[in-house]
Amino acid sequence: MDAPQLESVLTCPLCGHAEAETMPTDACQWYYECKACHALLKPKPGDCCVFCSYGTVPCPPVQLAGRHGCCG
Ligand SMILES: [Zn+2]
Repeated sequence: MDAPQLESVLTCPLCGHAEAETMPTDACQWYYECKACHALLKPKPGDCCVFCSYGTVPCPPVQLAGRHGCCG
């Protein structure tokens, strides 16, 4: 299996600012502060982390195991 992609571009749903972030491989990131408007982003219902909700690439556990494999 290919190694997961670790860089994801997060787009703020409030102001539209996009920022490339490197994802941790061993943990899900639940909060993310937008660097432009400083809104605190949280995952949408059903998503495990902010990368799955707002990123161009889902988080590494999801890439490897699919939507059901992340975060227990
Ligand atoms: Zn923002």
